[in-house]
Amino acid sequence: MVQDFFSQPIEYLKGVGPQRGDLLKKELGIFTFGDLLFHFPFRYVDRTRFYSIRELNADLPYIQVRGRIVSLVVKGDKRKKFMAGRFDDGTGSIELRWFQGLKWLQSTLQLNQEYILFGKPSEWNGAISVVHPELELAAEVNPALASSLQAIYATTEKLKTRGLDSRGILRLQKQLQIQLPPRFSETLPDNSVQSLRLMNRRDAFAAIHFPDSPEAQKKAEFRLKFEELFYIQLRLLSMKQARLEKFRGRVFSTVGDYFNRFFKECLPFPLTNAQKRVIKEIRTDCGSGRQMNRLLQGDVGSGKTVVALMSMLLAIDNGFQACLMAPTEILANQHAETISKMLGELDVPVALLTGSTKTAARRKIHEGLQDGSIKILIGTHALIEDPVQFKALGFVVIDEQHRFGVEQRARLWAKSDTPPHILVMTATPIPRTLAMTIYGDLDVSVIDELPPGRKPISTVHRTDAHRLQVWNFLKKEIALGRQVYIVYPLIKESEKSDMKNLEDGYNAICRDFPAPQYRVSIVHGKQKNADKDFEMQRFVKGETHIMVATTVIEVGVNVPNASVMVIENAERFGLSQLHQLRGRVGRGADQSYCILMTGPKLGNDARLRLKTMVETNDGFRIAETDLQLRGPGDAEGTRQSGIVDLKLADLAKDQQILQVAREAALKLLEQDPHLEKPEHAVVHRQLDAIRKRSGNWGRIS
Ligand code: ADP
Ligand code: MG
Repeated sequence: MVQDFFSQPIEYLKGVGPQRGDLLKKELGIFTFGDLLFHFPFRYVDRTRFYSIRELNADLPYIQVRGRIVSLVVKGDKRKKFMAGRFDDGTGSIELRWFQGLKWLQSTLQLNQEYILFGKPSEWNGAISVVHPELELAAEVNPALASSLQAIYATTEKLKTRGLDSRGILRLQKQLQIQLPPRFSETLPDNSVQSLRLMNRRDAFAAIHFPDSPEAQKKAEFRLKFEELFYIQLRLLSMKQARLEKFRGRVFSTVGDYFNRFFKECLPFPLTNAQKRVIKEIRTDCGSGRQMNRLLQGDVGSGKTVVALMSMLLAIDNGFQACLMAPTEILANQHAETISKMLGELDVPVALLTGSTKTAARRKIHEGLQDGSIKILIGTHALIEDPVQFKALGFVVIDEQHRFGVEQRARLWAKSDTPPHILVMTATPIPRTLAMTIYGDLDVSVIDELPPGRKPISTVHRTDAHRLQVWNFLKKEIALGRQVYIVYPLIKESEKSDMKNLEDGYNAICRDFPAPQYRVSIVHGKQKNADKDFEMQRFVKGETHIMVATTVIEVGVNVPNASVMVIENAERFGLSQLHQLRGRVGRGADQSYCILMTGPKLGNDARLRLKTMVETNDGFRIAETDLQLRGPGDAEGTRQSGIVDLKLADLAKDQQILQVAREAALKLLEQDPHLEKPEHAVVHRQLDAIRKRSGNWGRIS
């Protein structure tokens, strides 16, 4: 019944009608009563508090002032027309400015009438002004809407000209509340509702839009956020459970010769405790009879490769083949080289298969994989597109997960009835909350310890005014036999100017670091793969001193002799990206440096990003700050996941609620794995409805 109510078309709501209905659909995606109910306020204003204009400053949030418009003029030329008004309350006056909907405003605003003004004060030309304020005639204030905490809603300029500013939407919400059925059936298990003392659903929807008190608002918010997060977690966890039930894992029962001999004879260093712990976790998983899906997080340089290699040896010890996939050819090549070198005397047939592998060689590799003579295959992610057939693929390592979507993961499983164990490695530290959500169906291992003896990279921020000093520093490092990266941003939208920027930079560097004393390489995404590889190899072999590059070198490349990373226009990079880039140095024994170059002027966010980089090398702290700054939608790796589509909860701020929700979901599945008990029927139904609504990530399982 309630469901029917929710799905009624929005134009049927009193006060909407066809025209406003169309606009609500187009502008805010509100099609139904339910959509409107879920159009939650993004903040609240204390309607009992009136400011006087004398008190205003630009640091205040949304404020409320009582006063009169004393003048209105349209200014500017045709293209940049705007309207300015003066608003006076007897203690002083402020300027009001509008850039859109001028005609409509001119015809509705009245001079010298008392208004309640609502808006965010800002500073402009040294004076306080409010841009696009909301104005309500004092005589028309509706006491029914004036709760002490008034909800503020997102809206658009188009909607405002139709009377649907924030208060207009509030009016619709009121109407909706009047029509709302007095009781809803519960959508959460009784157990959680009781033990967490959650507000019931009907009350929560009332209190989120029309709170009587800050406490009621908080309780409503908690309830609704909990529900949102609970169902995401329940869905992920039941997906994982279904997968465990459906697939048997290959059993790695023994630790054999390959593993043991590698450990005793080949390993050039003692493993860190973190590496040992993770290898143990993997061994336990692979021996359990369940299919492993594990995410391995470890900061750049934490030594994930050797963990991957030892896991693959374990597979070979048990009669299986293994495969390692990297996001780029350069990386695949590098992995092949490192791994062959590490294996040394140990006789393990390893093959490298990439886009550049010639047809004849490719055919031989295919044969070797099919007859089982090749034990380890290394290649790019393109491998899953390739018609590769293994004799017995037992273990797959995917390096640098954030370039490898969940869908691709699913395709891997499709390759055999008994899917291989999967280890996904990422150097992008993911804050716990995000990991729980995006990878909520995976088990997570963390290498939280760097190999001993690493000197922390020293990071500084310099402006263009210091360029000469920076160049001199580079020359000193090169004289000591070290190599240098200089990285330029290359971001799609502005590709042309970025390309020019890179070329100008390269030319200037060649001039300032003249041959034959200095040799400079350049690598960017527009080059042919062969040229890229050639330049890269020159740098790897130490034939060039400086590598000028775009972010193509971001991931994984290992040149231990490179000790300085200069990042140009550093303000244009996101935090995770800066951290990834910095991770290219500090791989050898020498002290390494990261120099962040910017112009003199910086926004607040950019300043905070640079400050964070200078202050810490801790990838997890950087990831947390990144999440706070950008929000989960933009944080690294979440975009393609499609899972983080939250209406109310915020993964950056609601870590605790998420934790509680995950625990509740876990407990529920423990008690009732298939949600068959009658008291869980509501949960079952709700979960089905959610699955139906967003079909596509069911395919992941
Ligand atoms: P990442 O986790 O970024 O992939 P790598 O696996 O490339 O890191 O390792 C970085 C460097 O650290 C490599 O040169 C590797 O040989 C070295 N390394 C890995 N583990 C250890 C260890 N336990 N002790 C000393 N050096 C190690
Ligand atoms: Mg690596």
